[in-house]
Amino acid sequence: MRVFLFGVDGLTFRVLHPLMERGLLPNFQRLQSEGVEGILKSTTPPVTPPAWTSISTGLSPARHGVYDFWTYKPGDQGPDATIVTHRQGGKAIWNILSEWGKRVIVANVPMTYPPEPINGIMLSGYMAPDMSAHVTYPASFQEGLLEAVPEYQIDLHPAISCGQIGDLTAEVIHMTKQRIAMQRLLLKENWDFFFLAHMGADRIQHMRWDELMTFSTREIEYYQLLDESLGLVLAALAPDDLLMVVSDHGFQGARRKFYIQEYLYRGGWLRMKNESVRQRAEIIGTIRTAIRTLKLQKLARRVFRQLRRKGIMEMEKEHHPARLPDLDWTKTRAWIPSSSGALAGYADIFFDASVSEEEIQQLQDDLCSLRDPDNGQSLVTEAHREDAYGQGAFAPKERHLIVQTGENTTLPTELGRRLLWETRGTNGRGVSSGVHHPEGVLYLYGAGVKHGVSIAPAHVYDVVPTLLTHMGVSLPDELEGTVMADAFEQLVPLPTAVQDSIVMQKLKKLTSHITEQGKAEVSVTEH
Ligand SMILES: [Zn+2]
Repeated sequence: MRVFLFGVDGLTFRVLHPLMERGLLPNFQRLQSEGVEGILKSTTPPVTPPAWTSISTGLSPARHGVYDFWTYKPGDQGPDATIVTHRQGGKAIWNILSEWGKRVIVANVPMTYPPEPINGIMLSGYMAPDMSAHVTYPASFQEGLLEAVPEYQIDLHPAISCGQIGDLTAEVIHMTKQRIAMQRLLLKENWDFFFLAHMGADRIQHMRWDELMTFSTREIEYYQLLDESLGLVLAALAPDDLLMVVSDHGFQGARRKFYIQEYLYRGGWLRMKNESVRQRAEIIGTIRTAIRTLKLQKLARRVFRQLRRKGIMEMEKEHHPARLPDLDWTKTRAWIPSSSGALAGYADIFFDASVSEEEIQQLQDDLCSLRDPDNGQSLVTEAHREDAYGQGAFAPKERHLIVQTGENTTLPTELGRRLLWETRGTNGRGVSSGVHHPEGVLYLYGAGVKHGVSIAPAHVYDVVPTLLTHMGVSLPDELEGTVMADAFEQLVPLPTAVQDSIVMQKLKKLTSHITEQGKAEVSVTEH
């Protein structure tokens, strides 16, 4: 009757399957042979904040209000970016289950800061500040956690994540060991629903994709830790419990870059306030290209270190998507405010109200007709308008064109590059080698689940309806996904769940109250 939801940011079969074939992940192998395996399709676009929020709520971005790491509101100097750490609307599965009297544990799930009062324990995940902030509900749990696991951390320092300082792999492994210690602590609690998320796969795959693809590096230790964490869950399950493993998106290697903001600039869609800023970027871009051509990376690193010290490299950092380019908003008609697409293989183009539908269609057609001069592949594999975000209270007010690239290509937003197309240098520090892919990982295992079969791709929106149905909880009308029925031999909600619910208890109290007063007879029907 209980459910364990095991989440791993960015987990992909491209890494899992070869490691399983080598016998390195016995617990994942057990899920494959004794449970159900499938692809979990991400949100459009496949980026962490909306994807995890849709897994948690069963709702589309227009209903939960999370589109990216930032939200953009009109300001005096163009749009203002505000960081997003929590959904704006809609109930998460832990809210629904709390209302039904279920005991829930939510540990390290992204976009859960500040922590919410629930019937159980919540430890905020990615996008929360560090452990010096209040990151748990109840607040007292934080003290106990830090006593038991003093080095617990929510995520790596961003400079480590993007490879600027430190040993990324060692740091991810250390963080994951602390996470597993936290998991052991929470597994001692009572729970009906337990949602645990790991973040390390995304961090390693962004920076170490090429090394990982050799399947003989020390990064493998991280995946073995994940397998250990999964093993702890399997050991804790009772025969009528259900385990679901999900990732918010998949991953792929990306060697080619297409500078899409620069493409918009050259097409006259956007204008800089100060052209010298763009020219400075152009100079840096030219130096980079020359260095790569002449294979002078070592010398270059020294030069760039000096430039960075002088502040000129500020605009070059690839991991500061909040920063909007310094645009002339009186002449800019289309722009890409977020550079998340550089890490996730997409671009979300915003349009000014003056742009006609015909012009948007023309831009879409132009982008869709672009081919990589190196290999002839189409740049764009999917193009969507703002309706891809769904319908709801938080639907975007402006018009959008969201384009997704195919395999091997990503869409950085820096301006001033001399070439629109570029090939990534081999594992340059600070340069991502892996980017998100729309197809993530799904496993189901346990009560009523089929054995050793693959199912058709499911969607992040399908997680909540499937789990609620398994727990015998009726589905809220607003849910957008469907139950993953083909994963189960039989999916029969147990009626006891309904009897347990707070709602039903309240109804029963009301019934007896009314009956006592002799005013009416109210019958409670189970649903
Ligand atoms: Zn990522």
